[in-house]
Amino acid sequence: MSENCVFCKIVRGDIPSTKVYEDDLALAFRDITPAAPTHVLIVPKQHISSLAEISDANAEVYAGLLKIAAQVARDEGIAESGYRVVTNIGDEGGQSVHHLHFHLLGGRKMTWPPG
Ligand code: AMP
Repeated sequence: MSENCVFCKIVRGDIPSTKVYEDDLALAFRDITPAAPTHVLIVPKQHISSLAEISDANAEVYAGLLKIAAQVARDEGIAESGYRVVTNIGDEGGQSVHHLHFHLLGGRKMTWPPG
């Protein structure tokens, strides 16, 4: 846990969130500023800064998060129409919260390349 991390605070329940999924590994909740009709963040309970921290020791955390993303997509009814899973890394990657999270975006046609 990181004292001043907003997603650690959400995991602890110190900041409210709209949860859509929770297990021992992770929490999934709706993004406060949705960029699509479905915009869910999948966040590990343990504080990891970003995808850049992946290693042999924690790779199963990342696999678990992606599995949850696919499960939430099914639950949200967007598995058939398609969706996007993205994680931003660092300043130029557009990361604003430095606690690993995958964005699950769907419910509209996505464009490419992203901005
Ligand atoms: P990123 O810019 O990739 O680090 O994504 C951070 C995301 O967290 C943004 O899409 C924000 O809208 C979202 N966010 C920040 N604070 C909260 C919060 N308290 N509850 C839900 N989503 C949040």
